[in-house]
Amino acid sequence: MKTILVTGGAGFLGSHLCERLLDRGDEVICLDNLFTGRKENIRHLMRRSHFEFMRHDIVDPFMVECDQIYNLACPASPVAYQYNPIKTIKTSSVGTVNVLGLAKRCQARILHASTSEVYGDPTVHPQPESYWGNVNPIGPRSCYDEGKRVAESLCMNYHLAHGVEVRIIRIFNTYGPRMDPNDGRVISNFITQALRGEPLTVYGDGSQTRSFCYRDDLIEGMIRLMDQNEETGPVNIGNPGEFSMLELAEAVIAATHSTSTVEHLPLPQDDPQQRRPDITKARQLLNWEPTIELEEGLRKTVAYYRAELGIPVRGEDDAVASVADEARGGLCLNV
Ligand code: NAD
Ligand code: UDP
Repeated sequence: MKTILVTGGAGFLGSHLCERLLDRGDEVICLDNLFTGRKENIRHLMRRSHFEFMRHDIVDPFMVECDQIYNLACPASPVAYQYNPIKTIKTSSVGTVNVLGLAKRCQARILHASTSEVYGDPTVHPQPESYWGNVNPIGPRSCYDEGKRVAESLCMNYHLAHGVEVRIIRIFNTYGPRMDPNDGRVISNFITQALRGEPLTVYGDGSQTRSFCYRDDLIEGMIRLMDQNEETGPVNIGNPGEFSMLELAEAVIAATHSTSTVEHLPLPQDDPQQRRPDITKARQLLNWEPTIELEEGLRKTVAYYRAELGIPVRGEDDAVASVADEARGGLCLNV
């Protein structure tokens, strides 16, 4: 049994990771300042004897004993990370120094959650890990993009200078149950709008593309990267299926059986025009590739949001209810 620290463990991805690690028999310390994370995400883990929650901010130094660290602490939604941009940069810079310092003291292996945003608005398509990116260093997204870039640099330099065992994962847009319905990302926005019968807010003309990975595929890739002994990374993990935002809106309307229409709103500054991972490295190194395509992932996510928002399906039957239960990960939302 290993003791594993998950920073950002009460967030969307962190809470699923904690659950997977507990299920395979590890001791898990979940550290989170609850900025975008929610206690509801981990309430069902609290009664498990190998789970511990620490409310703490990684920008402030801390000490725990552990064998591995997954560093996920950082808001991921553009709305959330632009709310307090200086705090976002501090989390990725000062916070990452604190977590790397801990890894050094404990001789723990650390996996750092980086992002496809390090490629900015990419001029190479699809994006391999060797592409250095096209980031506006002073734009509204720079608090996140440049923060994540400096965090990658810190990881590599702690590895080279101090021999810290580092793994860097570059995560492409990932979605699924437990994504906060109000966090402002496109899948949570579109599904909640479609379920409420409101227009889907497509920014710009909707021709910009993203590639959407279901959370279970992502967590599998993340754990495989942490547990292999060959490669520091970075390694792209994402689903190469590429969709325009208009195509996504259509897919969400179909998955929710909604009568919603589409409403166009201004495109935010520096919004990347296209994004799609080259996952050759993940295939070769980790024998990993995504298994859940958009239609199936949306179905599971819609079931979760229906339960979360209390919007029943017309003529809801047991089958739908059990999909919702599975999507929630067995979590009883009313406890
Ligand atoms: P999330 O916002 O749900 O989770 C982030 C968690 O970090 C939250 O629980 C939040 O409270 C916590 N946190 C933020 N700042 C903190 C701080 N200073 N100290 C302690 N805790 C802090 O987002 P997510 O989608 O689960 O993303 C998790 C990680 O994966 C992030 O690092 C994000 O940058 C990265 N990532 C996610 C995606 C995606 O599509 N989901 C894509 C690329 C990268
Ligand atoms: N987007 C949109 N409507 C929304 C939210 C987002 O059209 O209500 C677009 C956004 O402009 C971007 C894409 O969806 O082109 C993905 O946005 P998100 O915030 O989910 O993540 P990003 O990949 O931009 O970090």
